[in-house]
Amino acid sequence: MLLQEMTWPMVDALPRTTPVVLPVAALEQHGHHMPVFTDSMLLGEVVRRASTAMEHRVLFAPLMWLGNSHHHMDFPGTMSASPRVYLDLLADLVENMITHGFQRLLLLNGHGGNIVPAQQATFEIRQKYRQRSDLLILSSTYWTLGGQPWEANPSLQQRRMGHACEFETSMMLRIAPQLVRGLNKVQPMEFGNPFDPAHRAWITKDRTSVGHIGDPGIATAEKGETLFQVFTADVLGLLERMIQWDGKSWDG
Ligand SMILES: [Zn+2]
Repeated sequence: MLLQEMTWPMVDALPRTTPVVLPVAALEQHGHHMPVFTDSMLLGEVVRRASTAMEHRVLFAPLMWLGNSHHHMDFPGTMSASPRVYLDLLADLVENMITHGFQRLLLLNGHGGNIVPAQQATFEIRQKYRQRSDLLILSSTYWTLGGQPWEANPSLQQRRMGHACEFETSMMLRIAPQLVRGLNKVQPMEFGNPFDPAHRAWITKDRTSVGHIGDPGIATAEKGETLFQVFTADVLGLLERMIQWDGKSWDG
């Protein structure tokens, strides 16, 4: 079910145990070869596939395109909410649905910079509603749910998400090839080792002058279809677990 197509009485008639998905993405530079709306378009396709498969069992809110992208602000076109504003924005999205009585909520994320804010926002909401034992508040990023697309398609060389990389470029070639430009001129950019396993704070220009990280030149639409299938299956698996949850246990 898509919230944007429903009336309020239709929403009011839903069981409050219906999982609600709040998709969150970004509008930020994706190198010389991909549009700034890449993250929102790719998550939108995962949501389109997942919502079609789930039919009436899960409620999907419209995708929030404004993300936490300040690390990309050196590249024109990027739009970003300040990190603390973004925390409040995410909290409001979740709390709106708690106000309407829904108990099972998922921030489904499609942008790396949103991972920490989504975890922090949901942490803070759980503390705020600490008297409740019937809430399931989750955040998850669609490419971190355990699927290993290179097993389904051995031609995939990358083993983790980069930026405007083999993965993202392949997915864009699958859904909107006309928006991938000049791919034959794009050079690979190494992931590097930023003091792993410590976490190093970064702005994008620390890592890449052109905007991408990874090797977009080996992207294909066929790889993109594999990626969408694996990532969508992961999301559907998580939604099934949310539906099956008994409404009170820690385990799920
Ligand atoms: Zn991206």
